Amino acid sequence: MRAAVFQAPGEKLAIATVADPKPGPDDLILQVKACGICGSDLHMSEVCDTTGGMKPLPAGAVMGHEFCGEIVELGANAKGKWRIGQRVTALPFIGCGACAPCLTGQGHRCGSVQYLGMGSVTGGYAEYVRVGGIETLALPDGVSWEAGAMVEPLAVGLHAVEAARLRPGDAVLVVGAGPVGLSVALWCRQFGARHVIVSDLAPERLALAAGCGATDGIDARTENVVERFKRLSGARPDVVFDCVGVPGSQQMAMDYAPTNGRIVVAGVCMQPDRIVPVKAITKELTVSYVYMYGRKDFALAIEMLDRGRIDASAMLTDQVGFAQFPAAFDALRGDKRQCKVMLRPALP
Ligand SMILES: [Zn+2]
Ligand SMILES: [Zn+2]
Repeated sequence: MRAAVFQAPGEKLAIATVADPKPGPDDLILQVKACGICGSDLHMSEVCDTTGGMKPLPAGAVMGHEFCGEIVELGANAKGKWRIGQRVTALPFIGCGACAPCLTGQGHRCGSVQYLGMGSVTGGYAEYVRVGGIETLALPDGVSWEAGAMVEPLAVGLHAVEAARLRPGDAVLVVGAGPVGLSVALWCRQFGARHVIVSDLAPERLALAAGCGATDGIDARTENVVERFKRLSGARPDVVFDCVGVPGSQQMAMDYAPTNGRIVVAGVCMQPDRIVPVKAITKELTVSYVYMYGRKDFALAIEMLDRGRIDASAMLTDQVGFAQFPAAFDALRGDKRQCKVMLRPALP
């Protein structure tokens, strides 16, 4: 099959022929219909050593963990549970299928979990991908392929918003208007926040935020974020989401928060970071860290998409075939006009 193959940090992905995936007894093979590029893929492809706590990606790896597709092959045990031709998406990991985390939709906590698209198991930047039967969810006909590939990033945002214990009428500040921040903004709007204010350094991204439920945007290059937030909402934010994840962003969230404020750290900082705890202590802040999502987050995102209750299409800024994919992947590192870019294997 064709796939976009990682070579080395700083080198373009190569479109090459790799071995077709074979299903294990409980697995399914999907024909990939759409697969989004995640910021973590861009990051993984730049890692040269282990100082950030992340292993460099091996040459030959196929990334991609935000995908959906059609079932084309079934493992022996999956027959009767799934059928050829079904439209599905899947959690991007394969667990043992028998332990408590696997059985409760938390397979990423399974002791023998294998992540898709992280180096060891081929991901969705390919014509076909192997997924676990227990990690798979059906996509109703009301969910397009583009929307189906958005379920994973929507689940990331949903899980972060769940951690915020949002109350109706809360004023929310989302720091960072990348896909995670925009997904967080969508869910905050859905769950009844009065103000969903997004700050970013790129005005192009703020324009996208307006299409994702943001009630206002703050250009953090030119405006004092706290002062502007207070002018817009009357007070400091009840909840601050750090959707940036770079050194300094957690401290910034603490500085923005009011006494008794809540902070959710959704950005994944891979470097050592300094915070001044006394700020968080004197304000008695509640800081929550979140990681990934569970199966129930996928299920709710799918249902809300199917009912037309949530619409993430404003986030999707480009779709390309294999030929343009390596260039689109690299362009995403710097082009702030782009947000979510998808591989569509059926495009030329
Ligand atoms: Zn992702
Ligand atoms: Zn397990």
